[in-house]
Amino acid sequence: MSKEMAALLQERGVYLHEIAQIVFDLQKCFVPELTLEHCVEVVTAVLSKREVQFAVLTGAALDILAEEKKLPSPLQEIIQTDNLLYGIDEVLGLGIANIYGTIGTTSFGYLDKEKVGVIGKLNDNKINKVNTFMDDLVAGIASAAAAKIAHNAGRPCKK
Ligand code: MG
Repeated sequence: MSKEMAALLQERGVYLHEIAQIVFDLQKCFVPELTLEHCVEVVTAVLSKREVQFAVLTGAALDILAEEKKLPSPLQEIIQTDNLLYGIDEVLGLGIANIYGTIGTTSFGYLDKEKVGVIGKLNDNKINKVNTFMDDLVAGIASAAAAKIAHNAGRPCKK
């Protein structure tokens, strides 16, 4: 099923190595021996969890339906314009971020604010595209993967 998830994400313009890059950047300071390859493996492990898959399926479907203008009003307009007060996309992303403990919440807040890497690309890509949910799903997956690595490493950052 994580293969199907990777295919769905790719269809929506997101490659696993782009999520892995965010994870790497979040954790490299804590885990000096960390590799991008390992981050891809951890992202894949996150995507193998059913609750993550259900969140991704839900968010991606709403983005696609909004692109096709198939949602009932006013939800269509709210999701299509990424209404600032519509926070359900963040709720879904946070649901993923928390699967390895609350440490994921901190990363999610940071990624949501700074729009790092592919998250920024999704956020800027609004011409004929709806990525209202996808940016938060990616931030959630990256945060969960970073939390999983942090729990296995458990070392303070040496500056
Ligand atoms: Mg969003």
